[in-house]
Amino acid sequence: MVLAGCGSRSGAGITRGTHMSTRSISLTDALYDYLLSVSLRESELQRRLREETAANPMSRMQISPEQGQFMALLARLIGARRCIEVGVFTGYSSLAVALALPADGRIVACDVSEEWTAVARRYWAEAGVAQKIDLRLAPALETLDSLLAAGDGGSFDFAFIDADKTNYLGYYERVLKLLRPGGLVAVDNTLWTGRVADPEVADPDTVALRHFNERLHHDDRVDLSLLPVGDGLTLARKK
Ligand code: CA
Repeated sequence: MVLAGCGSRSGAGITRGTHMSTRSISLTDALYDYLLSVSLRESELQRRLREETAANPMSRMQISPEQGQFMALLARLIGARRCIEVGVFTGYSSLAVALALPADGRIVACDVSEEWTAVARRYWAEAGVAQKIDLRLAPALETLDSLLAAGDGGSFDFAFIDADKTNYLGYYERVLKLLRPGGLVAVDNTLWTGRVADPEVADPDTVALRHFNERLHHDDRVDLSLLPVGDGLTLARKK
């Protein structure tokens, strides 16, 4: 258990953990705004997509802009060319990653919603990355199985899983087969607004995410990190 071990408990105005560096910092609204103000490099097009999506009743399914920027950086760091996205929604994450890929980079993008991905397609086209994105409108388990059946195992560099939580393990197992050694999978919502740590919460999505997190903790096929970015972002690198 990591607890604050520094800082004074008695000094006036100094609370335990004031200089806490043994755990991740909590973001107040002001600090979050500051973080964005000194690091976000979002294009005007990306901002428009984010604002259009904010009007959607399901807008909380959109990743945060700093997470999109982080994933684009990850894709560049590993030299990604072939990517998979499970759960497109209105396309913010795929747009961010596509912009970071080289000209011959490709994303197989899996979703079941014609309506939401129509928004994504509009922005991919406007950004000039539509030719990099192969949208597959079908249940993602079927699309991933068809890639494996076509002999594409071991050929992908980067994957992002952000879809129905009860299928996460099924997506993960297939994606792991599709990744090359050294390939990276990022998995969204693994802290689930804190519900995973609340034993009172037992809905199917929360239970599935807990099970997923526990399985990955002991999965020695991957190097692992769970980051408190966005709603929890798990990174697993295939060994
Ligand atoms: Ca998500």
